[in-house]
Amino acid sequence: MGTLKSPSPATREFLSTTRPLLIDGAWRSGSAGDAPAINPADGSTIGRFSLASAADIDAAVAAARRAFESPAWRELAPSDRARILWRIAELIERDAQCLAELEALDGGKLYRAALQGDVAIAAEAFRYHAGWCTKLSGEELNIGPRSSGFHCYMRREPMGVAALIVPWNGPIAMSCWKLAPALAAGCTAILKPPEQASLSVLRFGALLAEAGLPAGVVNILAGPGSSVGAALADHAGIDKISFTGSTTTGRSIVRAAAGNLKKVTVELGGKSPAIVCADADLDAAARGVADGIFGNAGQVCVASSRLYAERSVYDALLERIVRIARALRVGPGLDPASEMGPLISSEHRAQVASMVNRAVADGAQLAAGGKPLDGPGFFYPPTVLGGLRADMPIVREEVFGPVLCVLPFDDIDSVIAAANDSIFGLAASVWTCDIRKAHRIESGLRAGLIWVNAHGVPNVAVPFGGYRQSGWGREQGREAIESYMELKSVMVSLA
Ligand code: NAD
Repeated sequence: MGTLKSPSPATREFLSTTRPLLIDGAWRSGSAGDAPAINPADGSTIGRFSLASAADIDAAVAAARRAFESPAWRELAPSDRARILWRIAELIERDAQCLAELEALDGGKLYRAALQGDVAIAAEAFRYHAGWCTKLSGEELNIGPRSSGFHCYMRREPMGVAALIVPWNGPIAMSCWKLAPALAAGCTAILKPPEQASLSVLRFGALLAEAGLPAGVVNILAGPGSSVGAALADHAGIDKISFTGSTTTGRSIVRAAAGNLKKVTVELGGKSPAIVCADADLDAAARGVADGIFGNAGQVCVASSRLYAERSVYDALLERIVRIARALRVGPGLDPASEMGPLISSEHRAQVASMVNRAVADGAQLAAGGKPLDGPGFFYPPTVLGGLRADMPIVREEVFGPVLCVLPFDDIDSVIAAANDSIFGLAASVWTCDIRKAHRIESGLRAGLIWVNAHGVPNVAVPFGGYRQSGWGREQGREAIESYMELKSVMVSLA
């Protein structure tokens, strides 16, 4: 391990007190006590944060409702709303170092990746959606005013109070992917960060008032999913829920949301295939697939967890990926030499290890990694498995760790069928130098986002979401804002 980067004075100051909740523009201690924030790189407690009670949840929902109905937010000119969103982006960039350090300390991310990836993406989400504020408009419907006797038009209106529930693998980026379109649409929000990594989102909350956002428009409630998340999903005062997390939790959110028929967007798990054809640039494919599965220690919903290699290049590709896996330096996110950080918790590491052990017991061959690393922290090495069968749980289930399954294929039809043989359908990549083959394979894949000769590259303008059990709805792009808006049709009699 190298010398760790020291957290900045701003980060140390932030960590020195128990971080409260944001309710109605004021920072308040939660009435359900507090909890430690754990550094997954060494298991130490780095700070504490307040937990929201049922009363705090009711207070936040009431504040968000008042803010939604208040002229200070509702009647704000689109250009003024855009100005606030743009200012939030600037403030995220001003405080990027502190936000990225918190993502590294609390969530185990590499500092560099958090700074250049997550925090930059968070700022970009606000900039992109700021642009939409002044572009949202309705449409006149041509129903033939003279013959029908009606002038008819549609307009879009904000849905109301939105609950935004976020997982630990990208707290700041995913919070902003949801919050920026919700605010651009004119909604108000309750943001619930993940209990395993709440601090960067709580720190982000401090920027909102400075950017000019009226009190109550955004409330931040930390706490466990089983109490705070579940209560939000069930709450009659909430109109829209946007959730990112596991497919199992997604199902319970959908059930809870049925009470008052909230509008629901759920971004769930994946088992995304990367298909590498024999004519691909093998070095680029090996690097892209390795980044796709070992980035953020594989805790990425679109991780390239299944690699299908055309049989004639299977050995050559496997050898390249194993070389990359063995050379990756695993260590704390604040060590500038680290290339892969820890898993989020010891429980999650035990779960990853047990899935790999089971695969090996079932006959899979370990080509790299496969054993938790000794020492403090929840480290698991880059792991590559061959000798797999399509029916093994490791090939079918989401591991959410740095574990790559490599399988051979012989022809395009069979690899499309294998790639689609999954309950998930979030993302996929195709690696080939033949543009016709790329289109042919892409058109056969049942997944929401396909990359050709790349994997896992996000862009806030590109709709993101899953087919099948990978989710409902889309985030990013215009689709994201529309998911926070109702469509109203108006028929004006000309008689
Ligand atoms: P999780 O479902 O356990 O938790 C996600 C969030 O939901 C957390 O804030 C948690 O507190 C909350 N929550 C938990 N139980 C809840 C309940 N009953 N009601 C309401 N909220 C509840 O997921 P996780 O383990 O934190 O994250 C990993 C999962 O997220 C993986 O399956 C991954 O694929 C998925 N994910 C999906 C995407 C995507 O965009 N599709 C992106 C990132 C992660």
